[in-house]
Amino acid sequence: MNDPGETLVAVGTPPGRGGVGCVRLSGPDAARIARRLFRPQSDDAMLDGGPPSFGRFVDREGRPMDHGFLVLFEPRRSYTGEDGAELWTHGSPAILAELVEAAIAAGAAPAGPGEFTYRALRNGRIDLARAEAVRDLVRARTLYQARLAFSQVEGEVARRIAPLVETLEEWIARSEAAVEFVDESETQLARAELARAVESMLDRCREWLAGFRRGRVVREGAQLAIVGRPNVGKSSLFNRLLERDRAIVTEIAGTTRDTLEEDLDIAGIPVRLVDTAGLRVVEDPIEEEGVRRAHAARAEADLVLLVLDGSRPLEPDERQALERCRSEDERGRTIVVRNKTDLPDGFEVVPDAVAVSARTGAGIDALRHVLRERLTGAGLLEAPIITDARHARCLEAAASALDRAAEGIRAGLSEELVLVDLVEARRALGEITGEFTTEELYDRIFSSFCIGK
Ligand code: GDP
Repeated sequence: MNDPGETLVAVGTPPGRGGVGCVRLSGPDAARIARRLFRPQSDDAMLDGGPPSFGRFVDREGRPMDHGFLVLFEPRRSYTGEDGAELWTHGSPAILAELVEAAIAAGAAPAGPGEFTYRALRNGRIDLARAEAVRDLVRARTLYQARLAFSQVEGEVARRIAPLVETLEEWIARSEAAVEFVDESETQLARAELARAVESMLDRCREWLAGFRRGRVVREGAQLAIVGRPNVGKSSLFNRLLERDRAIVTEIAGTTRDTLEEDLDIAGIPVRLVDTAGLRVVEDPIEEEGVRRAHAARAEADLVLLVLDGSRPLEPDERQALERCRSEDERGRTIVVRNKTDLPDGFEVVPDAVAVSARTGAGIDALRHVLRERLTGAGLLEAPIITDARHARCLEAAASALDRAAEGIRAGLSEELVLVDLVEARRALGEITGEFTTEELYDRIFSSFCIGK
């Protein structure tokens, strides 16, 4: 990032040609530099913060090269919170590039990605969550994504978090008093009241985290992994779901060496299908790589299809996999598919398994239906409060600190120990809006922005 004393310049409109192009300037010299590049048509007073003035833009040598408008912003009305200027020209890359060069010759510095927004943050115009929402708004691919981002540009995240921060601060203050004046009975904490407050904050955090997970599936799509022993019909099922011949189907066990990825549209949710090699120990080093990737794909997946060959008895590892998917952490994430139902049954009925035949297509619609239900679930239509992965991580940290606090209160731990967790939760929430943020984090966040924003 440039020094705050520098005046930034960048093209604000996307690369390529268009009806209109825009060069932005921000910093102490913005108005002076902009005036060097512009000759007003009439004697329009070019007031700072006044209406746009029409005129000619000139190159480095002062030769006119385009008509357009100059808009000057005073700090209290500008995006960045400092002097700003926008130069509206025709959308010609040559004109825009020359204006940037001319501005640099006049003393401006080229802006890095997101540097205008960084200035807005530094000048207290917006908090970190709003800055990130600006990036998301620019990046949005669908109107739904844009709407969510826009509500956050307007400060929705900080507004929703504020009551939690307030409650936490109140209890931190009370706990500190209780620690300090341990002998005075009136400062004794109402532990039951504190326990209730912590539980209610915890509920709120968990609710938002659940909304984040649901929202992520809508925004980014879901990952679906298909796992099972070789030859159970994973590739055939994958093709059926895709209704195309993308994956290679062969009679030789273990030919799906790589993981293939394709997108499927289920109820408007983009579902990335990952066809994986089987989950078994192999000696072939090439296969080993495939198996390793299959494990990784499975770990990342939002949903796992565990495919069984219904025409032959179950292998011990398949029984184990069935057991595992009934256990706590896998529940809801795995759908058991019994394939090859066109052949005679090779083993007993498995409860909750979706019966299909990848060969005939029987049961595929029912499988799609189950997929849709698992992905959309309940409450999908309400807009999530948290949509950013960094915010979710902070919220998770806050939730685990609150969880520890709740645990500590239940176990009758001293005020001092509970206080540590409350302070930790407060810090984690503050990180969302950038209250306690490091320069490294800023660098990481702003490097994901466009130049000119
Ligand atoms: P993968 O190794 O799990 O990916 O299995 P494939 O999809 O390559 O299928 C292995 C073999 O089983 C191939 O010969 C397929 O034609 C056959 N197969 C797959 N699905 C079915 C099915 O539903 N019914 C029958 N009869 N054969 C199937």
